[in-house]
Amino acid sequence: MPDWLALYYDRPMEITHGEGRHVWDAEGNRYLDFFGGILTTMTAHALPEVTKAVAEQAGRILHTSTLYLDRHMVELAERVAALSGIPDARVFFTTSGTEANDAALLLATTYRRSNQVLALRNSYHGRSFSAVGITGNSAWSPTSLSPLQTLYVHGGVRSRGPYAHLDDDAFTAACVADLRDMLGQTRGGVAALIAEPVQGVGGFTSGPDGLLAAFREVLDAHGILWISDEVQTGWGRTGDHFWGWQAHDRAGPPDMLTFAKGIGNGMSVGGVVARAEVMNCLDANSISTFGGSPVTMAAAQANLNHLLEHDLQGNARRVGGLLLERLRAAVAGLDVVREVRGRGLMIGLELVRPGTDEPSPEAASLVLEAAREGGLLIGKGGSHLGSVLRIAPPLSLTVAEAEEGAGILQRALETAQTRLE
Ligand code: PLP
Repeated sequence: MPDWLALYYDRPMEITHGEGRHVWDAEGNRYLDFFGGILTTMTAHALPEVTKAVAEQAGRILHTSTLYLDRHMVELAERVAALSGIPDARVFFTTSGTEANDAALLLATTYRRSNQVLALRNSYHGRSFSAVGITGNSAWSPTSLSPLQTLYVHGGVRSRGPYAHLDDDAFTAACVADLRDMLGQTRGGVAALIAEPVQGVGGFTSGPDGLLAAFREVLDAHGILWISDEVQTGWGRTGDHFWGWQAHDRAGPPDMLTFAKGIGNGMSVGGVVARAEVMNCLDANSISTFGGSPVTMAAAQANLNHLLEHDLQGNARRVGGLLLERLRAAVAGLDVVREVRGRGLMIGLELVRPGTDEPSPEAASLVLEAAREGGLLIGKGGSHLGSVLRIAPPLSLTVAEAEEGAGILQRALETAQTRLE
């Protein structure tokens, strides 16, 4: 294993199996999974419909390649195109979010004949050469030798930075002015703006609703495409909306949308949705050997059925809303927590050294260890080396489980606060 591999805990944990919102480790300990794998378990662990679909498809044929059609792939592509909101949409399946963003960047730069891309500061879009190259934070970007020229604009982080003191309208106006200024200084055309509606790895942070709509007016004037990276925010995770871009609804749908993580419920499914005109701009065949593989497509179909039939987006809104309130109340006396934010089942707690405004990765690590002891798994992230706790359980989380997890987390936060005082 490479030395930089990031394991969360001092004592590595081996997960052996899961069910519903719980997983078990090799020592037999049971945990409430408040991170849903890594936002990958969208509906539930070991969801029977998904397990059955995988087993049935595996019994028929494991792989056919994209040289042939597969019923699950065609059906899923049609459903995702219809759900995307993008007119005349086409879908290309990949095996990860990174690859989906790579494909979107390839399409945008080819379509626009430009290798310049706009991205938000503090963004994360994956691990390939081009995705790492546009990532807006050097902590996640081990190289600066990007094949793309990236221009970074403000807008992803609301509570810190030069515009933090402004109200929402003034914040939006400042970010738009920043975008205009950046474009004014740029020679030649820009291919696209890529943005996460809520930044994921960056610590579950976003600009005000409508910000991307305001950006869109500027982008349209320059013919610049808008790529919405929905790898974390898609499929109802944010509760109020099926896609994150819908929080900016005056903007209408993006030109392209990328997805991955939750749709496969743990199977490797990613993809890009684009207007036909953009998708078809590549004149050479571009095949993904394993993208759209039948077993993964069968899993995604069953998972999507479950999500829609059980209105898990509505559940994310309701249970996520309760959990947000519960956590805000829980941290009222704890100054190790600077902010509790989020929407739906995508909730972030920003931690600081008590009594200061200084981001505290140390506090986050203490909380993670204490939560583990209490039987709760959570994630961390944020631009300051992991000072934000990230909560993103499967979308089927019950009220009782939300309450149980909040209790464990409250005690873990109290432990961290006491240790750091
Ligand atoms: N885009 C976003 C917003 C992500 O959060 C991630 C992964 O965390 C990616 C892209 C990359 O996806 P993957 O890890 O599946 O390649």
